[in-house]
Amino acid sequence: MSAREVYLAADPVNAEIAKDVLVNHGIGAHVRNQYLWGGMGDLPANVYPSVWVDEADDYDAARALIRDFERGALNDGRPWQCSACGEYLDAQFQQCWNCETLKPAD
Ligand SMILES: [Zn+2]
Repeated sequence: MSAREVYLAADPVNAEIAKDVLVNHGIGAHVRNQYLWGGMGDLPANVYPSVWVDEADDYDAARALIRDFERGALNDGRPWQCSACGEYLDAQFQQCWNCETLKPAD
């Protein structure tokens, strides 16, 4: 019965989004340090908001969700065009629904 850190966010907005992803999947989670971030001037530079699962048992599932979240953030939500058939696909699709070609890595 102990909390465990699963994600160190670049800013409080990212931390909240990541936490919401976990909560929406039924994993109890909370953000720490979000109120320390920014504007205080005299805080150490390594104080970033972090997301914690309430139960360490949820850590592995939470990490998998965070990985998906980070990959989505990196892809920037842009639609992509299939290199094989030319179909336009929304960012959340990892594979062309028309010809099953995998989404190219950026
Ligand atoms: Zn295709």
